[in-house]
Amino acid sequence: MFFKLDSFSLMGIEAIKVSVEIHISNGMPSFTIVGLPDKSINEARDRVKASIINSGFKFPMKKIIINLSPADLRKEGSFYDLPIALAIIALSGQVSSDLFNYSSFIGELSLDGLINPVRGILSMTQAAVQMKKNYFFVPKGNEDEAGLIKDIAIIGCADLAECIKILKNKEEVSKFVYKSHGSGNVCSNKHRVDFSEVKGQSRAKRAMEIAASGMHNILMIGPPGSGKSMLAERAVTIMPDLNYDESIEVTKIYNLVKRRKYELIIERPFRNPHHTISESGLIGGGIYPKPGEISLAHKGILFLDEFPEFSSRLSESLRQPIENKSIVITRNNVSYKFPCSFMLILAMNPCFCGYYGDKSKRCRCSKKEVEKYWRRISGPILDRIDMQITLPRLKEEDFLENVFVENSCTIKERVSKAFTIQNKRYLNDIINHNSEAGVCYINNWINQNQDLKKVVADFSKKSRLTARGMSSLIKISRTIADLENSDEITQNHFIEAFQYKILNNI
Ligand SMILES: [Zn+2]
Repeated sequence: MFFKLDSFSLMGIEAIKVSVEIHISNGMPSFTIVGLPDKSINEARDRVKASIINSGFKFPMKKIIINLSPADLRKEGSFYDLPIALAIIALSGQVSSDLFNYSSFIGELSLDGLINPVRGILSMTQAAVQMKKNYFFVPKGNEDEAGLIKDIAIIGCADLAECIKILKNKEEVSKFVYKSHGSGNVCSNKHRVDFSEVKGQSRAKRAMEIAASGMHNILMIGPPGSGKSMLAERAVTIMPDLNYDESIEVTKIYNLVKRRKYELIIERPFRNPHHTISESGLIGGGIYPKPGEISLAHKGILFLDEFPEFSSRLSESLRQPIENKSIVITRNNVSYKFPCSFMLILAMNPCFCGYYGDKSKRCRCSKKEVEKYWRRISGPILDRIDMQITLPRLKEEDFLENVFVENSCTIKERVSKAFTIQNKRYLNDIINHNSEAGVCYINNWINQNQDLKKVVADFSKKSRLTARGMSSLIKISRTIADLENSDEITQNHFIEAFQYKILNNI
């Protein structure tokens, strides 16, 4: 006697199909699970047996073999308790239903038959839609989260007995389908901070607006108290909210890290790990790989304050993810891929004491010490930072000055317009922002304006910029032009962009 049900396993951010196959035969009573199960699946045997009995069903005293296929896929957790229990109950003739053919199942069982929530349900629900399943039976505690995905009927079950009742009641199944609240319980905790709280620093604010508009990486250099962290924290408040697809993608990543109240994340994430973070904490890892800070910052901002304090190993580990916008972690010959397309903001003091170049406070560092401080920063990482700015120390009058300061909403409107222009430009491409544009785009932009072409050619002969630096200069110019809704990049855009290449000017 053979029976089969569909369930899922997590591979990074994606879920893939796992078939729960069962064979029952006469012979010495036994209960075996095969298909590379880990310890928790072996524990599942006891849980499944107890919950079947405690839910009022019979556990067949026969030879039972469960196979979780594909066998070469390493499986984790207690995801398969529910499908295993259902398969046993179905194959022993205690329930029959056509719904088994059109549905997928996931859930962890308690000894008393209750179904507990599992993590990664959003990824699994998307996979169920791709498999063209009509129904997805999930733990009651997961139905809000699964309901965020459209195009599939979600059935949340509190316990095993309820699940069987629904399966037997095929005609009335629609009664049990989760009623979605539109696009989900949208989380709308407004930012607690605003750009208008930053006094002075108008040049740095302008730079931050440009950086956010084109998702350009930016480095801020300034003495303590110049407002570097304040600006970085507020950068997300001027970026447009995530669209539906982006929200789902970001929420999927967060669901892998911890169980939380399931809501769709619509605001761009802001992550600022401390320099003592471990490498796996930063880029992701673990026995069952989980996303790190770089993936938690996906579609938002990763802020590394006191950047020279990060070990060279840590900062070098960022190089490949910055280029690829994703990170692949391999465990036991299996690759787990996590997306990590973020805007990087770095902040640092100009020297150990923080006052190098300050007009009013004397720097106590020797020339050697200043050089040593700067050597701590990885050259290849700096080369990948499009924009660099210095922030002067604020004077007392800056705090007292009573001038009009723009709030985040006003700036966000301009940034959103620049995003819309870029969305149109890259509609048929895999990239989304100017910072990601390749050589073809760059050449095209330069060729649009013959005057600019001459300036760029002249400039590239004289400047010390690398080829990468030169293309990033054009990309920043493009973003400045987009903020002005200008089709062409003009010389003025180019000249302003050059002001954000200070490391080549000092
Ligand atoms: Zn100093």
